[in-house]
Amino acid sequence: MKTTVDSDPGANMFAIIERLYPICRSITGPGVRETMEIISGHIPLSVVETPSGTEVFDWTVPKEWSIRDAYVADASGRRVIDFRAHNLHVLNYSAPIRARMTLAALRTHLFTLPAQPDLIPYRTSYYAENWGFCLSHRVLESMQEGDYEVVIDSTLEDGALTYGEYVLPGETDDEILISAHTCHPSLANDNLSGIAVAVALAQRLAERPARKHTFRFLFAPGTIGAITWLARNEARVNRIKHGLVLTGLGDSGDLVYKKSRRGDTMTDRAAAHVIGTRARKGRVIPFNPYGYDERQYCSPGFDLAVGRISRTPHGEFPEYHTSADNLSFVSPAQLTDSLAAVEEVIDVLERNAVYENLNPKGEPRLGKRGLYRAIAGQTDSQHREMAMLWVLSGSDGQTSLLDIAETAHLSFAEIRAAADALAQAQLLEERGGRRRPPG
Ligand code: ZN
Repeated sequence: MKTTVDSDPGANMFAIIERLYPICRSITGPGVRETMEIISGHIPLSVVETPSGTEVFDWTVPKEWSIRDAYVADASGRRVIDFRAHNLHVLNYSAPIRARMTLAALRTHLFTLPAQPDLIPYRTSYYAENWGFCLSHRVLESMQEGDYEVVIDSTLEDGALTYGEYVLPGETDDEILISAHTCHPSLANDNLSGIAVAVALAQRLAERPARKHTFRFLFAPGTIGAITWLARNEARVNRIKHGLVLTGLGDSGDLVYKKSRRGDTMTDRAAAHVIGTRARKGRVIPFNPYGYDERQYCSPGFDLAVGRISRTPHGEFPEYHTSADNLSFVSPAQLTDSLAAVEEVIDVLERNAVYENLNPKGEPRLGKRGLYRAIAGQTDSQHREMAMLWVLSGSDGQTSLLDIAETAHLSFAEIRAAADALAQAQLLEERGGRRRPPG
């Protein structure tokens, strides 16, 4: 179970999505457990089980759902709706049923999308016991009056809620939380893309020679999983200094960062800066109490500096929560771009620092230190010099590299590289950071 940096991260992330796509997940049950096993093949996950009935703040860990088969068959025995053909066909978390009934009686348990008649919708019924089927509107329209055999071979019984964690220790106990929800069945973008990007990010961070922060990766069912984790870890939640919820990262849209509830945290600044300075710019949107598990992490009792990175937000693409959110809806190139952006945000959080210019009286001569371009006019070396001038000008022992990058409208990566070169040439020294002044 070795963690390695992938040479082709897009293909590897896509392969994880392909592997996880056929599994029927829910908020509890064997599908989530199998998902944890597959993730464990890539990163060493600690799987935590919390028994059904456990009180977690205002919630109770629900029963465990298992499903083996489900179908609606016509009088000839033909399966008109078949869970084996697509796991979205069953209302997720359906109670068992075995009955014969008329189409009229069955209809109140059938869910379709008349406006998207070829797609199967994704529907759940977690906290009100129900049973049902989801199907394309075209199939519903083709169903004749008459009796149907209705079978959902599922069980809802005491078991456990499963989540997985992977902690990468750093130089400090200050944590960066990376969270992805694991409860959706065959839906690729929402949220196998988030899981795949989190796995790839964990592998890349594991290879780093040093990490300032401790990284905590959490793979948990939406809402109840995050709430269960918070309830079990309340005493150490204050270690979380930054966090990102990863979801919907494989579609063709631009990146979107949703701010934390506080809106002005370092996480928010780092993410907004990255989104605003990348070649392909994205959007920054304010917090709202809807969406994914940022709702729990940002609830006022925790109020963590956790934002969300996605591409097109949930509900803003027609494939959302339908059978069209499939393997062809996500692409390796977009996953790679998402991974790069998330890693850039992490780099800001990991590598922001305050420096002092050691030659502050007039500009130092860069040329005699080998920092000035030998041949004038090369665009990237012009950029590099501009970044060095900004760092020298801004480094007064109070102003951080991120402050400078924001003022200069240069990427943090360029400012950081300039600071490294200047520190190497002994023109700059870190202040208030880990490095103590000599003596
Ligand atoms: Zn969803």
